[in-house]
Amino acid sequence: MARKVDQLGRIVLPAELRRLFGIREGDLVEIFVEDNRIVLAKVEEQCVFCGSTTELREFNSKLVCVTCVEGLRS
Ligand SMILES: [Zn+2]
Repeated sequence: MARKVDQLGRIVLPAELRRLFGIREGDLVEIFVEDNRIVLAKVEEQCVFCGSTTELREFNSKLVCVTCVEGLRS
């Protein structure tokens, strides 16, 4: 699969890859170099305190997991 890079250095992620990896408009994608290759990885939404990716609630546009919410309450 090949894609052209535009004037601003952008490439389009093919729809089938976006679907496969659950990447939607507005999602964050991490870009890093590994073994001399450019690697893209979807940034999973996670709790700002513990990094958990389950049972997330939004507070002041930050994500906090239920366990940390309970911890903050006590
Ligand atoms: Zn948490």
